[in-house]
Amino acid sequence: MQTIGHFINGELIVDDSPTQPVYNPSTGEVSKQVAIGGAKTIDDAVAAAKAAFPDWRKTPPLKRARIMFKFKELLERHADEICRLIGEEHGKIVHDAAGELQRGIENVEYACGAPELLKGEHSRNVGPDIDSWSEFHPLGVVAGITPFNFPVMVPLWMFPMAIVCGNTFVLKPSERDPSASLYIAQLLKEAGLPDGVLNVVNGGKDAVDAILTHKDIQAVSFVGSTPIAEYIYKTAAANGKRCQALGGAKNHAIVMPDADLDNVVNSLLGAAFGSSGERCMALSVAVAVGDEIADKMIAALKNAMQQLKIGVHSDKANDFGPVITHEHKQKVLGHIKSASEQGASVLVDGSRTMPAGYENGFFVGATLIDNVTKEMSSYQAEIFGPVLQVMRVQTMDEAMRLINEHEYGNGTCIYTRDGEAARYFTDNIQVGMVGVNIPLPVPVAYQSFGGWKRSLFGDLFMYGPDGVRFFTRRKTITQRWPSASVREAQQFSMPTLN
Ligand code: NAD
Repeated sequence: MQTIGHFINGELIVDDSPTQPVYNPSTGEVSKQVAIGGAKTIDDAVAAAKAAFPDWRKTPPLKRARIMFKFKELLERHADEICRLIGEEHGKIVHDAAGELQRGIENVEYACGAPELLKGEHSRNVGPDIDSWSEFHPLGVVAGITPFNFPVMVPLWMFPMAIVCGNTFVLKPSERDPSASLYIAQLLKEAGLPDGVLNVVNGGKDAVDAILTHKDIQAVSFVGSTPIAEYIYKTAAANGKRCQALGGAKNHAIVMPDADLDNVVNSLLGAAFGSSGERCMALSVAVAVGDEIADKMIAALKNAMQQLKIGVHSDKANDFGPVITHEHKQKVLGHIKSASEQGASVLVDGSRTMPAGYENGFFVGATLIDNVTKEMSSYQAEIFGPVLQVMRVQTMDEAMRLINEHEYGNGTCIYTRDGEAARYFTDNIQVGMVGVNIPLPVPVAYQSFGGWKRSLFGDLFMYGPDGVRFFTRRKTITQRWPSASVREAQQFSMPTLN
């Protein structure tokens, strides 16, 4: 059986790390083994990255960008292979994997603008014969730790930007679907990236802890669940590292009485059940304002849900696939059960859904639960499965209060035809990414991505302009070239222009 190793200093390496199984979630079978690196492997990767840094830092941004241009071409040329690897280990359907890859490629395209992005800020004549400017310098060796649910897109949120900014990088992908990130790292080498600039170490907590405490790592970018994000942020900060740690979510859609119901139902289906609900921007709660719209929405959803197709990743007729592991499936089923036990109405129960021929796969069918209240544990937790919960309220303020009081603040959306209501919503909602009649308001690559409250620990969002700031540090230079005849007087007060 194939063992997925590490990628260090431009070489694929299978060292003496212990291994653990990687599953094909559609069949439930172990398909590969993955090496679980620890402190020693991280040390090797950091040493390679540190050695590559002095030359890479001096490589002109235009040359770095040209490698990214070539990388983009290679990602496009090998899209089918990348989507196959994602599908086999994550389970998402080939059209969804293609969407993930495309959103990742857009981050590479943005990184191609490095010469423009790194131009700095110049002020001429801040004083007599004095000019001042800010430059954006790389940090050194930086690291990224990524989740299972976007095995290509989330690494592409991080390393292209870090690398074009002149840093060298150690990526620790999810051990549950490690192949795709290892594959794209090799494409970047093929695009011309010098050895050691990007390294990939597979592993789990030991590798993460080695990153967090490594003296030669300057910054850590993390995406994953909230408890781990909080741990990463605190530990990285305690070890003197810059850190951004993006966490979990509970994304609500407010459905106003005037909403266009056909659009609501169509977009809720994809946003709640697409990728089996394993997206940090999945809409998992629909808050209906008034019973009339709630009843109509539920009737239409129940009807439409009968047509959903669930199955293996390679069949593009399927709408969504399995969840990631058997354990995760049990967790999702536990939330459905607890909702029922705590008084909610499970209207469509996907607990027993199983596509023919894939009886051992980790499938959960689309599930619809009505009469959910904020006391229920299935409402408080992030389910991360194909489960849409409906809450009924009487006013828009009541709906907004639910969202604002929730622990998470990643994404949200309002469905309405009323511009005043939409503006009130966008002004007052305590969430980082907000949609108006847009179910998945995932910012484009030239904006930045992040949540509020316990969905993000740190100050800067991911990718886009915030990504440039995260992966660089400012140096401000103030320079005077006085003409030979000018003699400066002694000055003991704080220099001013007065
Ligand atoms: P996870 O937190 O279990 O794992 C994320 C990473 O942390 C992995 O690389 C994993 O190896 C590592 N890790 C796991 N346990 C650890 C521990 N105890 N100590 C140190 N490191 C540990 O997350 P996941 O299940 O892979 O991904 C799903 C979660 O990620 C969901 O909560 C989802 O909302 C979140 N997510 C958030 C965003 C966002 O942008 N906010 C995007 C994607 C996913």
